[in-house]
Amino acid sequence: RKGNVVITGASSGLGLATAKAIAETGKWHVTMACRNFLKAEKAAKSVGIAKENYTVMHLDLASLDSVRQFVDTFRLSGRPLDVLVCNAAVYLPTAKEPTFTAEGFELSVGTNHLGHFLLSRLLLDDLKKSDFPQKRLIIVGSITGNTNTLAGNVPPKANLGDLRGLAGGLNGLDTSAMIDGGEFDGAKAYKDSKVCNMLTMQEFHRRFHEETGISFASLYPGCIAETGLFRNHIPLFRALFPPFQKYITKGYVSEEEAGKRLAQVISDPSLSKSGVYWSWNKNSSSFENQLSQEASDAEKARKLWDVSEKLVGLA
Ligand code: NDP
Repeated sequence: RKGNVVITGASSGLGLATAKAIAETGKWHVTMACRNFLKAEKAAKSVGIAKENYTVMHLDLASLDSVRQFVDTFRLSGRPLDVLVCNAAVYLPTAKEPTFTAEGFELSVGTNHLGHFLLSRLLLDDLKKSDFPQKRLIIVGSITGNTNTLAGNVPPKANLGDLRGLAGGLNGLDTSAMIDGGEFDGAKAYKDSKVCNMLTMQEFHRRFHEETGISFASLYPGCIAETGLFRNHIPLFRALFPPFQKYITKGYVSEEEAGKRLAQVISDPSLSKSGVYWSWNKNSSSFENQLSQEASDAEKARKLWDVSEKLVGLA
């Protein structure tokens, strides 16, 4: 049978390019889990994904009710789940004030981390049930949360501190909207959320890989400077960022190439190792990359897991 993959945020950028790359193999059916149904349908058509190879299903990660609803709808569809890709994200670098999810969590961490945390925890049961030979749970990471790299050292740097803001509910009222309890900073909130993504992947690996055989992985696909992720940035930045990445840092990668990279992590037998943060070198060959100290801190990962469970209502 065909493999079945769910990709969140498949209506643009990396998610869409990945859906296209994996659907084109003819061996996969893609469930595009998206907040804007019409946009996702149009996007799938515009890149030419064949009708029989995809389904759009509604998912708004900024609402935990919507996450639960998605899981119910997916189960009703009767499709097995072989691979889950947590890809969607928001990035709000110019926001002066925090905005919030339906449950009142700061929007970047609420969407990128907490929404995906609940989704992947609930869908773990579905992955366990699948009879697919190589079951995978992939959480898209980034270099920006990684302070052992040049890009990860551009201020404001990611730092989760002792998680006091997160433990307080990230609501910006009686507690800070930032994980470390500090002043709101939209760019930092995004980087923090990516550190959470990478810590969560490793905690999944430690807790569930041996018992379930599921492979857990994260990746940095390269700098895809033209995606919608930068839509909230100032126009000058949007104009200068792609050439800067192309010619100065040389980290630039096209959406198409990045989609092929993520598609490898979904289906390539040589990328089946669990607990790995994949990256690609200049010749586009994959390698197991190192994470920064904070992004590989096992104690912090465990604490993040416990606090996140409480916030999403699993504990
Ligand atoms: P895009 O903005 O193009 O895509 C983000 C996707 O997430 C969109 O489909 C968007 O939906 C969706 N999304 C946002 N909020 C929600 C929500 N509440 N519920 C459901 N879906 C939502 O950005 P990219 O393709 O660049 O980003 C994809 C991933 O790649 C992210 O995890 C990002 O951190 C990562 N990444 C990107 C890099 C880059 O250079 N661009 C580098 C490293 C990592 P909609 O279309 O409706 O807005």
